[in-house]
Amino acid sequence: MSGIWWVSEAPCAGDLRFTPNDATADSLRTLVPLLQVCQGCPFRARCISLVQPHRSLFDGICGGRLWINGRIRASCKGARADERKAHAARPINHGTEAGARAHNRRGQTACSLCREAARLAQARRREQKRARGT
Ligand code: SF4
Ligand SMILES: [Zn+2]
Repeated sequence: MSGIWWVSEAPCAGDLRFTPNDATADSLRTLVPLLQVCQGCPFRARCISLVQPHRSLFDGICGGRLWINGRIRASCKGARADERKAHAARPINHGTEAGARAHNRRGQTACSLCREAARLAQARRREQKRARGT
């Protein structure tokens, strides 16, 4: 099961046109009408945060933008600048409680390292509380 629950609820779920293989700049430009689908999507920021299109030199539609080689070539109506902040987000520091929170903010289920770190931190706090209480 994917920990990224929203992906299957997104309006583009299962539509491979958004992430074409072997795309050329010209074929990518023909995807602009798909931006209408993103227009009503509540997950634009999460989409950018997940794909990290700038960093991954993404080709296709992501987060209400058409990306060619990781650069924005068109945006859907209503696209907001703050949705893109996520794409500059620092990488998750895995294996930490903060990492687990970062996963959470991005709408992801924490990876096993972060989950374990969060579990241990919680157990530690519980232990400290118990120690104080006795
Ligand atoms: S923003 Fe666009 S590409 Fe991303 S999940 Fe929503 S509909 Fe799909
Ligand atoms: Zn992690």
